[in-house]
This record gives sequence, structure tokens and C-alpha cells, in this order.
Amino acid sequence: MNTTITFFPVGNGDMTLLKLGDSVRTTILIDCNIREAADDPDDDTRDVANDLRSRLARDAKGRPYVDAFLLSHPDADHCRGLCKHFYLGPPAGYPDDKKPDGQKRIFIRELWSSPMVFRRASKNHVLCSDASAFNAEARRRVKVNRERGYPVDPGDRILVLGEDEDGKTDDLGSILVKVDQEFDRVNGSRNKCFCAFLVAPIPKSDADTEDLLSKNHSSVILNIALGANESSLNRIKFLTGGDAEVDIWERLWDKHQDNPAPLEYDILQTPHHCSWHSLSHDSWSELHEDAEVSEDARAALSQIRTGGLIVASSCPIDDDDDDPPCYGARLEYEAIVDDAGGTFYCTGEYPSEAEVAPLEFAVNEMGLERLAYRPAPPKSLLRASVAASGLTFPPRPVVPNKPAGFA
Ligand SMILES: [Zn+2]
Repeated sequence: MNTTITFFPVGNGDMTLLKLGDSVRTTILIDCNIREAADDPDDDTRDVANDLRSRLARDAKGRPYVDAFLLSHPDADHCRGLCKHFYLGPPAGYPDDKKPDGQKRIFIRELWSSPMVFRRASKNHVLCSDASAFNAEARRRVKVNRERGYPVDPGDRILVLGEDEDGKTDDLGSILVKVDQEFDRVNGSRNKCFCAFLVAPIPKSDADTEDLLSKNHSSVILNIALGANESSLNRIKFLTGGDAEVDIWERLWDKHQDNPAPLEYDILQTPHHCSWHSLSHDSWSELHEDAEVSEDARAALSQIRTGGLIVASSCPIDDDDDDPPCYGARLEYEAIVDDAGGTFYCTGEYPSEAEVAPLEFAVNEMGLERLAYRPAPPKSLLRASVAASGLTFPPRPVVPNKPAGFA
């Protein structure tokens, strides 16, 4: 099987799985947003946890796992459901070995985290419980690496993306990836299908810049080159940047405009769920068509290659005042793909607003090929099979004025 990229429909949030075309089908999950409604068997929100689990392998102990989990930044719409669906803690303490498969939490072999992004996020708001738990787990793993020395076992592994301030990460050696560096190591092994360039977080320069970047949803930005399989010569480029906003893209254009390769892409995940604020300093809801696009930010996000794709991971994008997702931003991204002969997608509209499904592409020698979507099995069937296996769901809360069933 070739390398695939899967965008799960999670509303305004991100959850993207890379499944590489190597012999062991290495998996990298970028963010997660598993809402309560998605877990509720009596709600018709797509069961993305089931969609994810069905794409993951089980290890020798029968645990579902991802080889790497990247948190782009610690907002709730990028880590919701983490504690419920993933195991955080020392590998020896994994508690679910005797549980049925559907109740085993997902084991994370290697964590990818950025202390600078956490620092900036926690300046402006209190971290949600999933983000705090992720941060505690990242600290635990860094500590294990400091005490035992690299390499450590899967479950204790971590890559730290970007240097922290005041030399706090200077002693991390091979688990630190600096901005503008490439890395091709996933879960301790070099991978022939994968090479990522760390574009951001932009390092700290002065207090003013730091304040500005903190308010711009500073995120890990990766430009990931993906081969179809271990022997393929061609690679596509996937640019993914969390919720990074306009000041960050302007700075990146200023830095890379003479050699924009780090911003080039065959597939872009629109930053911040198709937000206007990744493209403009103005307010869309106040100014609409009069709101000005930042030429530099747009240039940074326009380095598309022929036939390239842009994916908004968001709710449906209508012609209204909402932001995100923003209709004006959609028009900009549609213009960018039109110029390249490519296609724009929105996860909240795929294949239809009425019934969404994961949006999935395979990498091949020619580029990217969209795969047929898999309709969801009715949750009633999932529930029946779970009931047969002896699992129980918590009682359904009574919601007044809400019709029952799947209508
Ligand atoms: Zn977000």
C-alpha cells in the first residue's frame, strides 16, 4: 500500500493521519479533535475515533498504536479527546491490556511537541485538561531522555520541535529539531518515505515580536515530503501549520521569498480552519469584501505546485459572517487552486454536508490521488456489536426537543 493522508471530519479542528508506504506502515497523527458527540452512539456525528482505530495497527501486545503524535499547538480543537482515547504515562503502566480491543487506549510510541508553542499559548489562556496532560507527558518523556540518554524505548520517545527560550533545550542533543532543519526519523528509525522540514515556531527575537507571535496562534509548521513507498523517487509536499495567523505567514514570506521551497506544497491544510485571520489583519465580519488581504501572507500560502490541493479542516463554509471558517478566505484559497489547476476541499462538506466521511488521498508516482470514501457503519450497528462484546456505554443524557434516532 502506498502512503496515504487522511483528514477526519472533526468540525472546526484538525485531525490528520499520515500512513506511510513503508514495510511496517508507519503512522503519524497530527492533532486530534474527538468531540463528545462523535463518541455518543445516539448522536449522528461521525464516529471519528472508530475511523481512526480502523486505520491503526495493533502491536505484539494487541495495543492500537501510532508511531508518532504531533500536537501543532495546545488549543482544545487540536487535542480534544486525547486523554480519553490515548494512553499517557510510562509504557509499563499501560492499563488496558485485559480490555476488549475497542476499549484499549491508543499507545503513542513517540510524541512530537514544541515547548515554545506551549509557552506562547499559556501566556494568553489557561490550557484545557487535554493540553495540560499532553504537556505533562512531554515533560515526563524529556526527563526520561535526560536521565537515561537517547535512545529510549517506544512510549518514552519524544522529538522536541524548535528550541525553547534561554537555552532550556540546549542539552537535548538528538531529540531536538531546530527550525530550518529537516528530519526523517520517526519513532527512532530513519524513514525512506518521509522527510519533514521544520518551518516554525519562529524563534524568539524580542519582547514585542514575542507578544505578537503569542497572539497569532503560534503553531508547529511542517513541510513534509512524502514518497509513495520506500523506493519511489518522487515526493509530494504537504504543508501543515496548525492555526498560525497572518503575522506569522508574513514573517515566513519575508524570510523565504528568495527561496520559497520551504513553503512550496502539493497539498496544504489551510491554517486555522480557513480563518480570515491567516490572510488579513482586517475583520471579515465588519468589512466583508472591503477587508484587505495581506499580500505577503497570501504569497506565503500560495506556493502551490501544478495540480495542487487545499484542504480546509472545518465546518461547512457558507457565504456569511462566520470566521472561522470564513467565506472570504475560501474565495482566496479557491483562486489559488484555480491558478494551479487544482482542487479545494472542505472536510465539513465532504462528500456532502449531510453525511461527512474522512477525506483520503494516496501518494503515487504521479502525485496525489483521492481515494473513494468509506461511508460510516450506522452507530446502531457499532453499538450492537459492542453490546455483544459485553461493553457498555454510559446512559444517554436526555436532551429536550431533540429528535431521537438518526433523522
Ligand atoms: Zn484550531
